[in-house]
Amino acid sequence: MGNVQLAVVIPVYNEEANLPLLMQRIMPVMQGLGKSFEIIFIDDGSRDNSLEILKGFAQNTQVKVVELTRNYGQHAAIMAGFSITQADIVITMDADLQNPPEEITNLVKVMEEGNYDVVGTIRKGRKDSFFRILPSKIINIVARKITGVNMRDWGCMLRCYRRPVVERMIQCHEHATFIPALAMVFAKRVTEIEVAHEERYGGKSNYPLRKLINLQFDLVASFSDLPMKLIMYGGVLMSLLGICFGTFLAIARLVYGARWAAEGIFTLFAVLFVFVGLQFFALGVIGEYIGRIYREVRKRPEYMIEKIHTG
Ligand code: UDP
Ligand code: MG
Repeated sequence: MGNVQLAVVIPVYNEEANLPLLMQRIMPVMQGLGKSFEIIFIDDGSRDNSLEILKGFAQNTQVKVVELTRNYGQHAAIMAGFSITQADIVITMDADLQNPPEEITNLVKVMEEGNYDVVGTIRKGRKDSFFRILPSKIINIVARKITGVNMRDWGCMLRCYRRPVVERMIQCHEHATFIPALAMVFAKRVTEIEVAHEERYGGKSNYPLRKLINLQFDLVASFSDLPMKLIMYGGVLMSLLGICFGTFLAIARLVYGARWAAEGIFTLFAVLFVFVGLQFFALGVIGEYIGRIYREVRKRPEYMIEKIHTG
């Protein structure tokens, strides 16, 4: 049997409420494309009934279920999916039906007609909370600046990639990664199309603020040393300001006398606290990098496959 033409890679973490409808909607879409295809679900250590439901889907010969040993995170799960497919075009999407599977048809059409390496998507009328959209907005701007790639929406996972891009991504054994950005390192011809966005169908988002911040940091830290540079320049600026302020205090003391200066001592404390706080912040950022370096040098596998279930 030759390679399948299309593969859909879907990471799953506690999505039992969404899986049946997802499957129901995605199957006709894939069949309608008139190409050979496979759907690869990666169970990222779900603690609900997701794996059982997926095993049921795996009765179907066009479905493969990759069972990971534990929760490795969305991007590692997608990588695990990439690693087991040979398809020419690989589509990634979320399991929560926030992006309609029906959009795949258009995605593939755009890719083939334009001979693109990557087709990204822009969420039209995004249905997320303000606190979910705001960080995305910021990160989109930062990501545009640091990668120099003019993508409008980095966070939307409904995307498709051509085989060579996927293959090069697999070769990057990075722990902290952000797939849409990583793809941009390798892709030459890239475009973005608009896709509809819906509320999460069932269950709740797996991204509490802590995970979200971590992921956004992955995006920035894995692709640039901008945060470290900011600290450096910020540090220089701060010490210059500190020197100016010190000079001002010294002069003011000479002009207004010791009494004035003694009363000003509390201002000094305030300033000190600001600086100490900033130092801790800076240390934290450096610590983030060190933590990531540590993870990379340990060379542990980014994911571990327990079993692949197929029909
Ligand atoms: N996901 C995963 N592992 C995780 C967290 C999430 O595989 O540790 C999957 C999840 O099942 C979904 C996708 O990644 O298919 C996006 O997650 P979610 O919808 O919670 O993110 P949001 O839409 O809030 O960004
Ligand atoms: Mg979602």
